[in-house]
Amino acid sequence: VTRRRSCACYAAEIGSEFILFDVGFGAMRRLVESGMDHTQIDRVILSHLHPDHINDLIPLVMALNFTPGFRREKDLILMGPPGFTSFYAEWARLMGEWALHPESFSIHLIDLAPGTTPMGRWTLLTRPMNHSRAANGYRIETPVGSLAYSGDTGPDDQVVELFKTVDFGILECSFPDSNGTDGHLTPSEAGKLAERAGCKRLLLTHFYPPMDQVNAVEQVEMHYRGWVRKAEDFMQISFPLSEPLNSRDVRRADPRAD
Ligand SMILES: [Zn+2]
Ligand SMILES: [Zn+2]
Repeated sequence: VTRRRSCACYAAEIGSEFILFDVGFGAMRRLVESGMDHTQIDRVILSHLHPDHINDLIPLVMALNFTPGFRREKDLILMGPPGFTSFYAEWARLMGEWALHPESFSIHLIDLAPGTTPMGRWTLLTRPMNHSRAANGYRIETPVGSLAYSGDTGPDDQVVELFKTVDFGILECSFPDSNGTDGHLTPSEAGKLAERAGCKRLLLTHFYPPMDQVNAVEQVEMHYRGWVRKAEDFMQISFPLSEPLNSRDVRRADPRAD
């Protein structure tokens, strides 16, 4: 987290479904600032159980429970890597009965093992990533295109599988080439994986502060031939994507001032 960047959270609207991938600390604040209605979230899909990816989950459930004048009735589905269900049950037990059994709606907890999960009009693919604890990467297949999200990972063939010819890939890129570490990617590693996968467009994310001191895009482009940018808070991507991408496909929504 820096003044400019909050922790991991990616909102996806697929038809009438409103989904969050990860909900790290600062995510609730950013959702409200973005003008999105967090009370309407249907599903939260967590990559792994590190605080920068899950911390605002309880604040979200709290908001759905206790916002005066609002009564949530539709179910809330919470999905995560193997071990998530028991983790959440324990966390909720410490918080209070409301966190597991809200008064006006039901929470469904689901562990996602590697594989394919049909979701009606779209499909969720789950792959294990290479990180310091159980971590999933995800890919959405929809009638208007495909999108992959790595969560946190080091270099791994599973990343190549997940990003194989994907229309839009959101790939972690935590540390500069000069300062790489296990379980995370540098720009050169990210570029090589994206090139091997034939990923069509690449968005770099999950920057530790030193990443804003280096030209990550230039370093990636030494290994990867596709479109590549750094993620910014409030960035919006609309499918189907144009070729080449234009300002309608990828834009930055100004946060609401009020
Ligand atoms: Zn992590
Ligand atoms: Zn992380």
